[in-house]
Amino acid sequence: MRILLVEDEQGFAEALCSSLKAEHYIVDHAADGEEGLDYALSDVYDAIILDIMLPKMSGLEILKELRRQDIHVPVLMLTAKSEINDKVTGLDLGADDYLTKPFHREELFARLRALTRRQSTDSETPTEVAFGDIYMRQGGNELYCRTKGTSIALNGKEYQLMEYLLRNGGQIISREQIIEKIWGYDTDAEYNNVEVYISFLRKKLSFIKAETQIQTVRKLGYKLV
Ligand code: CA
Repeated sequence: MRILLVEDEQGFAEALCSSLKAEHYIVDHAADGEEGLDYALSDVYDAIILDIMLPKMSGLEILKELRRQDIHVPVLMLTAKSEINDKVTGLDLGADDYLTKPFHREELFARLRALTRRQSTDSETPTEVAFGDIYMRQGGNELYCRTKGTSIALNGKEYQLMEYLLRNGGQIISREQIIEKIWGYDTDAEYNNVEVYISFLRKKLSFIKAETQIQTVRKLGYKLV
């Protein structure tokens, strides 16, 4: 899951980024409104956490522009207690949820799970992504084989890549899409990186004796079969 955090309070943003990463989210951070809108318009995010009071452009303006351009990524607005009117405006403009600062991390994670769950329709149960005989649970780091009852821990990038493959079911995903999704735009990651992680995942699939495999589709990319 790729999350965009638009928040100008440096310390708060850093703390939030690291707890989101610990929950296996891929996080991009924008520190002002213009940068936030730029990132958001790329439309690669599964959810956006959007502060309202931001330098250069407010969270409400960003939200308005996203919806105007038909980008319907779930948006969770962060509001201060004093911004209660902004909250109402935000919901009117198409925010999906809001949290009033200060809040507990657990509360944020729960809201994020609810938002991204509404988006995904392909998982067998709301908190699982599955394909063939394998599945993963949101918030965990294990890959399970349903029929063999086996499991194995995945590290950060492995987890993100496997989740991406699972979310796309049997569809082909190109190497470009994987780099964009897992490593982001500003990256030196190359096709080699993708191949290395694909090979890690294949070893782990064979370790848990899964029937499901990652197939290389020549010149196109990868898919689960
Ligand atoms: Ca702010």
